[in-house]
This record gives sequence, C-alpha cells and structure tokens, in this order.
Amino acid sequence: MLNLTEIIFPSRCIGCSRLGISICSECRKQWHPHVYKREISWSEEIFPVLSAIEYSPIASRVLLSAKESQIRAADQLIVNGIVHALKLFVNRHSSAVLLPIPSRKSANRKRGRNFLQEITSQVAFEVGFPSHSALRHNRKVRDQSQLNIIDRSENLSGAFAVDPKFTAQFSTGNTGPKIIVIDDLITTGATLSEAIRALRTAGFTVLGAVTSCTAKPLR
Ligand SMILES: [Zn+2]
Repeated sequence: MLNLTEIIFPSRCIGCSRLGISICSECRKQWHPHVYKREISWSEEIFPVLSAIEYSPIASRVLLSAKESQIRAADQLIVNGIVHALKLFVNRHSSAVLLPIPSRKSANRKRGRNFLQEITSQVAFEVGFPSHSALRHNRKVRDQSQLNIIDRSENLSGAFAVDPKFTAQFSTGNTGPKIIVIDDLITTGATLSEAIRALRTAGFTVLGAVTSCTAKPLR
C-alpha cells in the first residue's frame, strides 16, 4: 500500500524514472559502491584516486539529478559513494582535511547552491574529518563536459589557487594538514591534477583524491 507522502509526492527511481523508491533494485546494480583505483602523477609524485562507482548512463542520471535538479536523494547516493571510497584513507590516517574542487560561479548561480561544497561537508560530517573550501579559481575556465583530453588540460592549466586564508591558518609540509581532494567524477584527471598542482606548489601534503564516479576519458 502506498503511504500518504507517496500519493502527494510520487517518488521515482533516479536512474530509470520507475515509480517507487529513489533508486530501484535494477539501477542499484549499476550504482553499487566498490573501490576503483587510478593514479595521478605530478612532479615525480604519485597520488591515488579512489572512486566508488563506474560511470554508466544510470550514474550520469544520478549526478545530473543532484547537480541540475537538486534532488536530495541523489545527493545522498553521491555522498555514500564518496564515503565508501574514502574508507581506505580513513583506515590509514587518523585525520585529513577534505577539500572540494571549486565550482564555477556560473554553475553555482544556476544551481542556487555550491553543489560539491555541500556534498563535501556532508561527507566530512559522516567520516568525522574536517572540510574546507580552500581551493578557488584564479581565472575563468570553460565548462569541461564537451572538451577532449587536450582541451581539458589546457582549460585547467594553472586555473586553481589555494585561498590565502587557508595558507595563513595552516602550516605547510609535514607539520601541516594532510589533504584529500574531493570531486563527483574523474574523467581525464585534468581537474584533480590541477588541484594537486596548486596544493603541492603551495607546499601542502596531499594524500590523494576521492570521487564518487570514475569514467573512461574521451579521446
Ligand atoms: Zn531504476
């Protein structure tokens, strides 16, 4: 029997729009957290990138539902994915600071919120690590979704900087915080590489990155 809230606000599966719960058992098979590991290298250092979900049409709909339609059940799926992949770091390190990839101002205006910052705060709350919005754009960048691997790298090269307030608050090097960069999706790795470059250039220790989804790069 349907309960009253379902009659007034019928809920549909985020993956396939079937009436019922927020993600149906069929779509759940495509959104079932594992741990996928990739690596990003920067200046002879290697940084692990852990992700929970292999990108698929279902995963794409979950990300879009959260980012473009503000569906909270989709937010929660993304948070759960990141928390799952983050466990490997949590088990090895007593503490780390979670830093989201900065969103473009135009995207924040369109969405009415800073999507990734909210996701990262929720993840931080669930794992008991602090989060901070220390990364920022120091110039305009284009929307990446239609760019190929070379264009993405050019689009982002030198685009991020560490907020001077963060640098003033925390010491760098071994005595400073260990940082984990958070994003919803890794494709070419250009965005995470740029974040790692900005943080390492500023002298911070970076453990690696965690994303909810991992996609094969466009060529
Ligand atoms: Zn479904």
